[in-house]
This record gives sequence, C-alpha cells and structure tokens, in this order.
Amino acid sequence: MITDKPTVQQQADKLLTFPKQLLLETTSHCNLNCSMCARQFNPRKWGTLDEDAARKVIDEVTARTPDTRIWFCYFGEPLLKRRSGLFERIRYAKDRGLQKAAINTNGNLLDDRAIADLLEAGLDEVYVGIDATTPEVYDETRRGGDFHKVIQNIHSLCEAAGDKVLVTVQFGVYENNEHQEDDFREYWAKYPVNVFVRPKLTWAGYLSDHVKTKERRYACPWIFDSINVFDTGEVPYCVCDWPNRNSLGTIKEDSIYDIWQKRTRPYLVHHAREEWDKLPKFCQECRDWQTKSPMDPGILQVIAGLDG
Ligand code: SF4
Ligand code: SF4
Repeated sequence: MITDKPTVQQQADKLLTFPKQLLLETTSHCNLNCSMCARQFNPRKWGTLDEDAARKVIDEVTARTPDTRIWFCYFGEPLLKRRSGLFERIRYAKDRGLQKAAINTNGNLLDDRAIADLLEAGLDEVYVGIDATTPEVYDETRRGGDFHKVIQNIHSLCEAAGDKVLVTVQFGVYENNEHQEDDFREYWAKYPVNVFVRPKLTWAGYLSDHVKTKERRYACPWIFDSINVFDTGEVPYCVCDWPNRNSLGTIKEDSIYDIWQKRTRPYLVHHAREEWDKLPKFCQECRDWQTKSPMDPGILQVIAGLDG
C-alpha cells in the first residue's frame, strides 16, 4: 500500500496540536546514583505518580492521539515500581490502544520476572542505559550498578522478547568513556538491539560539558520533542528543566492538550522565530540545544509564521 508522506504543513499542524512523546514519571526514586544525572543536585522530594493522575493522562493520550509514544519514566528507575503497578499501568494503556509504550531503565532490576511481566503488559520498547564496555568505566558513571548483571539481563531480554520488544542499548558520551564508543558499537552489533549514542546533557547548565559550542544557535529540538510529567503531576518547561524553574502547570488541573496549546506552543513559536530574548533566562543560557539534531527547517518555517 502506498501512503502519501505528510506535507510539511501537516507535520507542523500535528506537532502543534499534541506532543509526539510524553514522559510520565512513574517514580523518581532510583537504585543508582549516576554521575551524569540531574538527580544528584538539590534533590526534589522523591515520590511516585498516583494512579488517578496516571490514568487521566493515559486516557487523554489514547483518546486523542494513540500514536503519541508514552515513556513510563522520566527521572528515576521505573522497575522500582514493579510491585506497585508499573505493569498494570502499561497494560491499561495498551488495552486503550496506545501504540508505543516504552521505558528507559538502568537494567539492574531487569530480571527474568520483570522481563516476563513487561512482555505480558505489552511493552513495545526498552532503552537500557549502559555507557560502558568494562565494569571499571561503568562503575565511574553508573554508581551502584552491576555491569555484568546488566549485560546478562539484556541478553535474557533479547532471548525472551524476540521481535515483540524493540531493545535499544544506550551509550551517553562523557569525558571518561568516549574512548569506548567504537567498542560499544562493535560489541552490540552482534546482537538484535539498536545502539543509541547521545552526547552528554548539561541539564540546562547543571553539569559541565565538553561539547564545542556551535557557531549559530538553532531552535532547541528538545522542547519540540516531548511533554514531561513529574511524579507530582507538574509539567516543566522542557525535558532538561529538572528543577521545574519554569512550570507549565500540572496535569491534576489541566489537560495535556491545554498545557501544550496554551503554555508550550508560544515557546515553540519563539524558538522557531529565533526570538531567544523571549525564552526563560535559563533557556537562553542553556547549551543543550546542540545535543540533538536540528528540526526540519520547513516545519520551523511554518511554525515561525504563526501568531505567537
Ligand atoms: S539510573 Fe537513571 S535516573 Fe537513576 S541515577 Fe542513573 S541516570 Fe539518574
Ligand atoms: S535550550 Fe532551552 S529548551 Fe533546550 S534543553 Fe536547554 S532549557 Fe530546554
């Protein structure tokens, strides 16, 4: 069957109507203390997202755009919630037609029982953060984790999941591990997984970075990429706004649609028009825009032409 590729206008309309991805913070508790994670700074009060709030979001997404990918995590390790409802929450979303249910995990709790429960729940995608090819380098960043256990868990997952779940192994590039990137790609090329390599995020200026600043700033792809819900129900400005310096509201009072339309959308227009002085100060100073490929210029041109 031949399907017409959506026009730039249609892609822009879709993007402006509802986010293509949503991060739903199942829990902000974690079993690790990673050196590159924003959790280490002035910690929020860790908690879990209550079931009513989670279902409200899931009901809205599946009713409006079931092709919006929901990540059942944000900060924190989602498998810590395994005995109190993660799997049931994913099953609830899948039963309502959600097309893409995903988690990002550090993999330490991804044992045989968790794998069986995730498959039963209908999970579509798993990203596992590893960032190393040796236990020594792993221990420097993934503090508190067990390298060998994680690797074994991924192999068990691949064996059990077959083609039911898309497995991605993730390598964040940091000062201490960049020499292992090629070995990481080479090792995992032998297995049925995707490899995702991404530059280090500073979390809007909290971590130092070693990325050379590009000469010309472009519209930050991160703010176009997802809407993000903390365990409290609060929605921050963008995925990197972990201390919620510019809250866009709470899903306990507003719908995702309203938050995206009324509070995110004007910022999308400012980014597309390169009106940097109209962005929050921390966003003006942030360099994380360059850690992701630029948006399609045609889509940006459509968005730049809208009323702010
Ligand atoms: S496993 Fe993830 S959430 Fe936990 S400390 Fe590491 S990076 Fe942060
Ligand atoms: S540049 Fe702005 S929108 Fe992009 S990640 Fe940084 S704070 Fe967020």
